Amino acid sequence: MYMKQSSLFTKTRKEIPADEVSRNAELLIRGGFIYKEMAGVYAYLPLGFRVLEKIKNIVREEMNTLGSNELIMTNLQRKELWETTGRWDDEAVDIWFKTKLKNDMELGLAWSHEEPITEMMKNYVSSYRDLPISVYQFQTKLRNELRTKSGIMRGREFVMKDMYTYAQSAEELQKLYDDATEAYKKVFQRIGLGDITYITSASGGAFTKYSHEFQTITDAGEDVIYVNRKKNLAINEEVYNDEALKELGIEKEDLEKVKAVEVGNIFNFGTEKSEKMGLYFTDESGEQKPVHLGSYGIGITRLMGVIAEHFADDRGIVWPESVAPFKVHLVLLGNEEDTKNQAEKLYKDLQENNIEVLFDDRVDVTAGEKFADADLLGMPIRIVISKRSIENGGVEIKNRTEKENQIVSVDDLLSLLTANS
Ligand code: ATP
Ligand code: MG
Repeated sequence: MYMKQSSLFTKTRKEIPADEVSRNAELLIRGGFIYKEMAGVYAYLPLGFRVLEKIKNIVREEMNTLGSNELIMTNLQRKELWETTGRWDDEAVDIWFKTKLKNDMELGLAWSHEEPITEMMKNYVSSYRDLPISVYQFQTKLRNELRTKSGIMRGREFVMKDMYTYAQSAEELQKLYDDATEAYKKVFQRIGLGDITYITSASGGAFTKYSHEFQTITDAGEDVIYVNRKKNLAINEEVYNDEALKELGIEKEDLEKVKAVEVGNIFNFGTEKSEKMGLYFTDESGEQKPVHLGSYGIGITRLMGVIAEHFADDRGIVWPESVAPFKVHLVLLGNEEDTKNQAEKLYKDLQENNIEVLFDDRVDVTAGEKFADADLLGMPIRIVISKRSIENGGVEIKNRTEKENQIVSVDDLLSLLTANS
């Protein structure tokens, strides 16, 4: 993938909306990755959209490896489904957006999908031969969140990856649950957050005492967790007490209290929903049994916000290569025909070598502004081509975090970039 900056409609900017207090939204708005429609509601612009797609593709690969089937459910949901499980009531679920059809029939706008997917599965599950089933989607969720001071880390509209598994028994579900846990660890490692993301025991889960959250340590987080770095696990403040510590086999002295954000979670619903909604199967001995349900979320847009919070310096974002909009930012300086031609040629060479490149071909922008933009936008590698670099034997290259450029010839550049791609 490649793009000329002259064709990009977004511009970097110095000002941000007055009501924006979060660091992630500040950087992302200034870079033109996102646009703020209103509090908690953001559009994803071309560069931000590319980051989201990169994150989604990492998650997609790991979910497909689990053998899960991708699908997409609807945003309009039937009230009765949520009534059967007691989750339609605003007292039970305080973030519902609801709407009505012309004939006054009430509908819910999707904040989650356990009930509609479980209802749908009644059409596909009758025998033990139909199980297990694993499905997932990337879907826009709508939640009427009370507070939205965390930028895209807490939206009223946001993208979630939600996966649901249906199993014959508690043991079969546990296996799916454990495999999903491993897949989640891989996702966070590939995104670059592995070292600061902890599996955290938290409240919830119908059949198990705890649910498991994936919490990433950040001061921008709204949660408090107690981390045991040696054992690589944590416990959420909401379930932190002597009894829980004992059950989980962790000592108070080994724990460190930190702020964190929930980037994913996994729930064991057991047979609770299946029993309420009537999702049964016939087992090998001909007996009718309720299906065991597991539910697994990852906050895709939230993750993008966490990355922007974590991988940044005073000049802007420093995207990890796995999720960067482009690997290379090619910056042309100067207006001479020869330099411009050589830059265009290099831009083509990079494309032919399958190196993702954003080409700053703008001619009416100063070198200082171009460098400031490159720092703010945060591509992993910056390549500068100018009259001077050509006289010096090629192009200047540096990583986003480095101070000093290196001169390399175009041939060396291409082998350097293709070697580590
Ligand atoms: P939180 O406690 O942060 O409100 P939650 O427990 O409500 O999260 P779930 O309902 O389990 O979250 O949703 C699954 C995942 O979706 C979460 O782990 C999180 O990454 C993401 N998520 C939840 N709410 C939001 C939101 N308002 N904006 C962005 N992402 C969200
Ligand atoms: Mg919530």
